[in-house]
Amino acid sequence: MSRISWDQYFMSQSHLLALRSTCTRLAVGATIVREKRMIAGGYNGSIAGGVHCSDEGCYVIDNHCVRTIHAEMNALLQCAKFGVPTEGAEIYVTHFPCLQCCKALIQSGIKTVYYAVDYKNHPYAIELFEQANVKVEHVELEKVPYEDHIKKLQFVSELIDRLSETKDLDEKELLELKRKSELYFA
Ligand SMILES: [Zn+2]
Ligand SMILES: [Zn+2]
Repeated sequence: MSRISWDQYFMSQSHLLALRSTCTRLAVGATIVREKRMIAGGYNGSIAGGVHCSDEGCYVIDNHCVRTIHAEMNALLQCAKFGVPTEGAEIYVTHFPCLQCCKALIQSGIKTVYYAVDYKNHPYAIELFEQANVKVEHVELEKVPYEDHIKKLQFVSELIDRLSETKDLDEKELLELKRKSELYFA
């Protein structure tokens, strides 16, 4: 049996982390790596001890859920909390980072960003990464355990995200849809 590549190994870890996400709008995972070792991981969710979007619905302002800390931020904050340097490290994320995370990643010294899925790639984020000499590389996830589960979850997240953008449904209705969709993952 051939060995899994480093890229696939770390990207799989990020997808596993995404399964811990508590936000019903999008499930994101991030793994920070230094010298081929995972030094931190995160997923998008509420602050520790806070209510979860998956229980109470998202807290949406200007079409963004403001309740959650993004996966990349959570991974960086884990390093801050335990005093682990991020200078020169790499990050594997399931989705292209948002502008806020992009800035935080640059500022914390991350040198390479590997992402699996294009997600509203902000032109300013792309520009900032270039300016800061941060390498950004697309790594598509190949075969992993839980693959079907991940794909279904991502598909449903995308659908619900799209639906929320149409503003045809309120948060309660969206949550109800998400709950129903979870029946198929049981
Ligand atoms: Zn949310
Ligand atoms: Zn972000």
